[in-house]
Amino acid sequence: MKRFLAICMAAALACAVPQMGYAAEENSVQTTQEEITQEEATQEEETATVARTEYIPVLMYHHFILNEVEPGNGVTMSQNDLASQIQYFREQGYKIISLEELDKILTKSEKEWDKDGDNGLDLKIPYLCITIDDGYFSTYLQAYPIFQKYQVPASVFGVTDAITNNTGLFKVSWSQANQMFRDGKVRFYNHTSNHVPASKTTTEEYIASVLEAEEALDTYLPPQRNRVKALAYPNGQYTPEIQQALLDEGFSLMFTVEEGVINRDTERTAIPRIMVASGMSGEDVVQKIEQVAMRTMQVDE
Ligand SMILES: [Zn+2]
Repeated sequence: MKRFLAICMAAALACAVPQMGYAAEENSVQTTQEEITQEEATQEEETATVARTEYIPVLMYHHFILNEVEPGNGVTMSQNDLASQIQYFREQGYKIISLEELDKILTKSEKEWDKDGDNGLDLKIPYLCITIDDGYFSTYLQAYPIFQKYQVPASVFGVTDAITNNTGLFKVSWSQANQMFRDGKVRFYNHTSNHVPASKTTTEEYIASVLEAEEALDTYLPPQRNRVKALAYPNGQYTPEIQQALLDEGFSLMFTVEEGVINRDTERTAIPRIMVASGMSGEDVVQKIEQVAMRTMQVDE
């Protein structure tokens, strides 16, 4: 186990170095060092990667913008970066799936034995989920055209009161949400009606807000056959009481903001995600997924 951790650290270090090297690309000495480091990194990654068919990463996005965004600008994603990420995921053989498909896949693997005893999901192909929190207008304006271009599903956790009343940062309208559902593969799910996190309310009030949001989704969106009840906890906060109450209400997928991938040990009431930060290329995202997967699988062993 110690050896495994050492490899993780070496890989993380090696990955950081080439990025620093970009600033000095004219310098031949730097380049040579970079090449050596790249070689080492490739070797380490090969040793340390968990097979992509053993887990499912759920990516978390928030805000999108037309112009380029430099790295280090939080979670705002440029339209171009989103497009090149999705293109890269496809090149890498990932199938991007909806939460309905995720629910089915998890139900199936829950019923099957862990064939190779590594807490993995033993999937046939690598899957990946795209989730977007809060339901900003930029989801419709910048991200939706990209989802349409590549015909990929995306799952939005909308704050329903904010959508109905268009309060806070500019939100999508219900008619835009309808359009994304009707013409595309974008589905809306629960993020409570008011975005009050668990630490700022009682369990009763929290669940009331969840049910209100569910009612709004039913009211403003077309009837969705086989729709799973999915929710992202506002600010990622939850309690054991809330987890139980949501299960009692028939929810089957609850998402946190904790970093991790889904494997056999993942609780459906606390599904971890991976935040995609501004300026990340598709390669950066996949590299992050693989690092997080190594950590998740290691912890569970
Ligand atoms: Zn939120």
